[in-house]
Amino acid sequence: QVVLKAYITDGRAPRKDDMAVTVSTLPELKAPKGSGGFLVKNLYLSCDPYMRGRMRPPSPASYIPSFLPSRPIEGFGVSEVVDSDNPEFQAGDFIAGMTGWEEYTLIQKPQQLRKISRNHAVPLSYHLGLLGMPGFTAYCGLYELCSPKAGEFVFVSAASGAVGQIVGQLAKLEGCRVVGSAGSATKVVNRRLKISFSELVVLLHSWIVQKNCCRYFPQGIDIYFDNVGGEMLDAALLNMRVKGRIAVCGMVSQHAVTDSGPGIRNISNVIVKRIKMQGFLQSDFLHLYPRFLDHVTAHFLAGDIVYVEDVDDGLESAPAALAGLFTGENIGKKVVRVVPP
Ligand code: NDP
Repeated sequence: QVVLKAYITDGRAPRKDDMAVTVSTLPELKAPKGSGGFLVKNLYLSCDPYMRGRMRPPSPASYIPSFLPSRPIEGFGVSEVVDSDNPEFQAGDFIAGMTGWEEYTLIQKPQQLRKISRNHAVPLSYHLGLLGMPGFTAYCGLYELCSPKAGEFVFVSAASGAVGQIVGQLAKLEGCRVVGSAGSATKVVNRRLKISFSELVVLLHSWIVQKNCCRYFPQGIDIYFDNVGGEMLDAALLNMRVKGRIAVCGMVSQHAVTDSGPGIRNISNVIVKRIKMQGFLQSDFLHLYPRFLDHVTAHFLAGDIVYVEDVDDGLESAPAALAGLFTGENIGKKVVRVVPP
């Protein structure tokens, strides 16, 4: 099992030694009779930036409950049912949903859980990214908040990651010109990631961003899909076009920002340019999940969408895999394969 040792009480990003890999006795491989629960064997675990929010002490202000220290971390996973006391789930079924960072989990209250058919054209782990929560975030953020139109200019930050690479490809399929930014040269030369964008560029988080934004968007930005916040958001605001849209998806740059700095200097552009800027949680749109699955699966099977994932093997690798999201080590969607092949 991977457990959280103790809550992180300051604003810093998580480190691998905030977590520990522990060994406990394997429960009986049976779901207790009358529990309605089912026992699963975890195959793949998803590393997601929102999990940082669950590492802080419980707070009424949080939209999601904190993890329990010394208990296995919870997260999205793909699992196989091994025993069930629930008529909806049979031994041998594959499911995607909330599970524990451990080899076996007894699931009593299914959360964001769906059965997946073993379609070998779609690898099981893709249900954590392309067809999972990050892909869905890309879909609802882009379509529900930004209404992309052919010919528009779209900018995506953290573009090589789980959400960003899908936003880029969906916007391109709508006929937009899409520029993505990533934090390192290794990411922008990745052949498969480059396909997702009209152009994938290295933009670091400094004043240079503002100049570079102009260079890639001489006519301005119609849609900014913001995964990082901070300086990048400020630069995008300066370069937005009139009636532009900004989907505020995530603020991964804001961990460990200790001083308030100059803040968002270009926010008045929201007024002057009549920009629509909206934050969202993918969970607000769950009714759209079936439509998302149909849309993205069809494009994937037709070869219109590629997907890049970054797989680490073994539960022991999970703490570093999660921490690496906050230093930009992942190239594509980060997942942990619990049992190496
Ligand atoms: P990614 O796969 O994109 O991994 C995180 C990436 O963030 C890193 O690879 C790195 O990319 C970038 N990053 C890390 N630290 C910094 C920093 N200090 N400044 C700028 N960039 C940094 O993660 P996801 O695709 O899963 O998530 C992307 C964003 O979407 C996150 O902010 C997440 O919280 C948010 N999100 C929001 C949801 C919602 O419902 N609103 C749901 C799911 C995700 P690089 O090296 O390119 O800088």
